[in-house]
This record gives sequence, C-alpha cells and structure tokens, in this order.
Amino acid sequence: MKGNKQGAQMAKVAFLGLGVMGFPMAGHLAAKGHEVTVYNRTAAKAEAWVARHKGRAAATPRDAATGAEFVMACVGNDDDLAQVASGPDGAFSGMAKGAVFVDHTTVSAQITRKLATEAAALDLHFVDAPVSGGQAGAENGQLSIMCGGTPEDYARAEPVMAAYARICRLIGDSGAGQLAKMMNQICIAGLMQGLSEALAFGQKAGLDGEKVVEVISQGAAGSWQMVNRHKTMLQDKFDYGFAVDWMRKDLGICLDTADEIGARLPVTALVDQFYKDVQLMGGGRGDTSSLIRRLK
Ligand code: NAP
Repeated sequence: MKGNKQGAQMAKVAFLGLGVMGFPMAGHLAAKGHEVTVYNRTAAKAEAWVARHKGRAAATPRDAATGAEFVMACVGNDDDLAQVASGPDGAFSGMAKGAVFVDHTTVSAQITRKLATEAAALDLHFVDAPVSGGQAGAENGQLSIMCGGTPEDYARAEPVMAAYARICRLIGDSGAGQLAKMMNQICIAGLMQGLSEALAFGQKAGLDGEKVVEVISQGAAGSWQMVNRHKTMLQDKFDYGFAVDWMRKDLGICLDTADEIGARLPVTALVDQFYKDVQLMGGGRGDTSSLIRRLK
C-alpha cells in the first residue's frame, strides 16, 4: 500500500463480480483512490464500469488478481465463488504470496473454510466478509460487513473495505462472517413475512398503509424493511435489489447449517417455502419484499 496526498493508504485492488452490489462497491474503491482492476464474466459490464470509473478491466479473475494486494469478490453462490477463486483461471493462480482475498459473496461456511485452507497452502490470505445493506447500501457506501479470518488479515483488509462500509467487524475465525450473515438472513425472513401480512391486512381493512406506517414505524414494530420498503410493497413495485432467487440460496444455506449444528429454524423453513411460491409465480428476480404478492 502507498499513501495518497491525504496520508491514507492506497492499495492495488482487484474486484471480481460487477453485479447489483459489486459494481458500486468497486466504484467506491476507485473513488477513494485505490488502483482498481475489475473482472466481470459478462465483459460488457466491466466495460461499462471502466467507462464510468477510474480503473481497468481484465479478461479473467487470474489476470485481474495479478499484482493485486487485495482481491475482492462479490459473485453468486458457492460454485461461482469457487470458480473465480480457485478455478483454472481463478484469482488464486494469479495472486502473489501474501495477498489477501476478501469474499463479499454470501456463501456457506464450508466453502469458505475450504477456500481459506487452499489459500493458506499457497501463502495467500482469505477473509470472509459478507455484507448487508442491499443495493442502496452498496451505492451509498454504507454496508454492514461481518468478517471471519485471522485478526492480522482482518486488520489489513479493513482499511480497504472502509471505502463502502458503515460498520465492519471481525466476528471470529474463518466462516464466522458467513455464520453471522446467516443470522442476518434468519432475522429478515420472519420479519419480511410479518411486514407482508400486516400491510396486506391493512389494505384489506381499507386503511391508508402509509399513514399507519408513519405511526407504527416509530414504535416497537419499526424496522429497516418497514421504513424502506412499505411504500413500494403497497404499490406492488419489487425492483429494489436483493433478488428472491438469492434469498432462497441464503435460506438454503441457513437451513443446511441448522441441520449440521442442531439448531431449529421453523419459521425460516416456512418462509423459504413462501419464497418458493413467489419463484413459481415468476418472481425470482423480484426483490425480497415481493413476499407480499402471495397475500394480495
Ligand atoms: P447479481 O446482480 O446477480 O450479480 C452477480 C455477479 O456475479 C455478476 O457480476 C455475475 O456475472 C457474477 N457471477 C455469477 N456467477 C459467476 C461465475 N460462475 N463466474 C463469474 N462471475 C459470476 O448479484 P448481487 O445482487 O450483486 O449479489 C452478489 C452476492 O452478494 C450474492 O451472493 C448475494 O447473495 C449477495 N448480496 C446481495 C445483496 C443485494 O441486495 N443485492 C445484499 C447482500 C448480499 P454476470 O454479470 O456475468 O452475470
């Protein structure tokens, strides 16, 4: 890392995956002055990123990672992460010894620990760092980031993640960040169903939902989802970032993990099936607040 004019440490950073989340996150890194190289499977998105931000695009994760001190990833699921990290053209094969791979994808703790072990065998470092805060959090640089890894690796990666973090914390060893993200998703699943039921109930009762939410959001029922999503839920607009398909992936990870550790998730299991209904209604790319569609 080298200092910029303000004395902040600037790094050579690769960013893999320019989706709803990765595109703006990589943009914040460039805006802070880091030297950014992006990779996206669909090259057009990388070209669009380069047209908008300072930085360059690479053709493979390996090329993007060559010479980088930090490689950040935000792709889809376990298989996608394995592909961009340790596949034939994956980042690990291009990273220099000592470089840190920071994974912002929501994946299982198993794949995380497997890749962290592979990385260590290559003298690389691995931090799991899933995020919460949605598309708006990524665009505003206000994400909550929960991390797993060694304190040393976390301390190196934290100043880089600061470009898009509202809060960033080391929770524990490798995989602990992903387990924390599972807690986050378990909270959201039950909450989203409760909010959907309340809003659909209010509509059937003939109440002005916005008026009601203005009052109850400031009492004990208030939540981020209520404040940020009630208007669009009442208007049947469901194009606000976190896709139902991704939520089902996350809830699947939560339910598998609960089986492994002997935890019980009865409401999460039910809401997972409700999200399946939404997928069957053709709503897989709609945002998670579309749970209300089943009730209207
Ligand atoms: P997205 O818009 O669907 O973008 C996914 C990105 O991953 C795209 O750049 C895609 O490339 C790339 N990708 C997927 N599979 C790949 C593969 N096998 N090889 C290379 N690249 C691959 O998803 P997103 O909403 O940004 O979410 C990304 C991750 O963050 C997911 O794990 C999600 O659960 C998590 N997350 C999302 C949110 C949210 O609100 N959206 C919030 C928190 C966490 P292409 O462009 O070629 O498809």
